[in-house]
Amino acid sequence: MKNPLYDTMFGPYTGKDTPFLHLPEGGVITHGSFVCRAAQLAHALVGYGVKTGDRVAVQVGKCTDMLALYAGCAQMGAIFLPLNTAYTAAELSYFVEDSGATLLVGDPARTDELAPVAQAAGAAFATLDANGGSLSDRADQQSANFETVARSEDDLAAFLYTSGTTGRSKGAMLSQKNLIRNAATLTDLWQFTNKDVLLHALPIFHTHGLFVATNVMLMAGGSMVFIPKLDIDQLIEWMPQATSMMGVPTFYTRLLDDPRFDAELSKNMRLFISGSAPLLADTHVAFEQRTGHRILERYGMTETNMNTSNPYDGERRAGTVGLPLPDVELRVSDANGTELPRGETGVVEVRGPNVFQGYWNMPEKTKEELREDGFFITGDLGVQDDAGYVTIVGRGKDLIISGGYNIYPKELELVLDEQAGVLESAVIGIPHDDLGEVPLAVLVPQAGMEIDLDAVKSTAETALARFKQPREYRVVDALPRNTMGKVQKVTLRAEYGA
Ligand code: ATP
Ligand code: MG
Repeated sequence: MKNPLYDTMFGPYTGKDTPFLHLPEGGVITHGSFVCRAAQLAHALVGYGVKTGDRVAVQVGKCTDMLALYAGCAQMGAIFLPLNTAYTAAELSYFVEDSGATLLVGDPARTDELAPVAQAAGAAFATLDANGGSLSDRADQQSANFETVARSEDDLAAFLYTSGTTGRSKGAMLSQKNLIRNAATLTDLWQFTNKDVLLHALPIFHTHGLFVATNVMLMAGGSMVFIPKLDIDQLIEWMPQATSMMGVPTFYTRLLDDPRFDAELSKNMRLFISGSAPLLADTHVAFEQRTGHRILERYGMTETNMNTSNPYDGERRAGTVGLPLPDVELRVSDANGTELPRGETGVVEVRGPNVFQGYWNMPEKTKEELREDGFFITGDLGVQDDAGYVTIVGRGKDLIISGGYNIYPKELELVLDEQAGVLESAVIGIPHDDLGEVPLAVLVPQAGMEIDLDAVKSTAETALARFKQPREYRVVDALPRNTMGKVQKVTLRAEYGA
């Protein structure tokens, strides 16, 4: 293959009039027209001075041209670098400068604040959104044929910056092989085919919506209902025509909140997949009761694409993230990297063709987290049972150490979530003179209910060892979450004096 990523994901669709994207506003983008648009965008990138191996930073709202830009970058050998649309101009300048991008593609409505960001970083600037922009105008003038640039599977295809949940975002360098192999594994495991229609309401700047969803569908030859953002009305409208959905846990809790969502509405669906943040076991159970479907939860991250998944045919266990993927090795280790016996909690490490090539510009960090034997230290704490199912118990950075004892916030959260009137909870460590840290619990009440804190405390006293019991409680309307549904414990720590 001349360019494995392009030749696997896009090239085979040249001239094909099969549907690829169903647009909620009406209309269909066929595979063939998508590939033509990618070629036009590849020409336009060359026009902006982008060369093979250059980074193209893209902060653009979800639209078909943004996805075609990913394909265009693959075809002309540039590194696609999508960025969260919520980032401010000041935040963006870090990413553009850090990555050394040649071109920044931004929202036309924000030209005044973004053009100077590009200029300061020595990058060219172009605009794009669903209605057009300078990149789109330039592409319109170009030929729909582009001579695909030769690349190897070890060449870099994308920089994806991590979500920044635990600190400053890091640029994960992903090779063509990382993307192709993970997509192939997932397509096979989840049995996606060209008959599938995926409800796609995730952002496409993150690995979930971009690589898990899009690459799998490209690999399978199916189509996607391309919904700009989580919109329950749209999901409900399109569900009878779809076969599958990928979402973060918020998708599932929001669907369950809507009485229109039931077994009848989802009767053509064959698969609901959840990831990016923990799905509460309660949600899993409520979803099955309402629809008869068992949500398939999987686990991955920016640096590795996907690592584990509940089985398609076998038992999907609520509260677990399933088994390591067939081509991913997973071990649970202690802090020194020594593998622990099954059933013990430790750091999750993974190795396989999915594991990234290192953090851009951060050789020290890369060395700390990527072991010489190829295992990547995920930073997540987990435990694997005898059957191989993995349960993620939280992030290493959220571990609370109190008087020398480890406290896993998840263990407390599971107890608190069960209490009357509690919708969900988050436990963080706060400083303590004697013990170093003690747990503080933040509780969210169920709609229309009040939490009886005395009752919660007394249950915690019987359910948890003394050193694990929360020393303080706070009740809030909602937990701070980012667009991927991840609880922002850094925000909670800042707020509650940690
Ligand atoms: P940063 O690395 O910058 O702190 P981040 O880790 O949140 O941010 P992502 O790569 O977007 O950035 O998220 C990966 C993380 O999401 C995983 O390490 C894990 O903590 C969490 N995660 C993903 N899927 C699941 C899941 N099914 N259950 C629990 N946690 C999950
Ligand atoms: Mg991370």
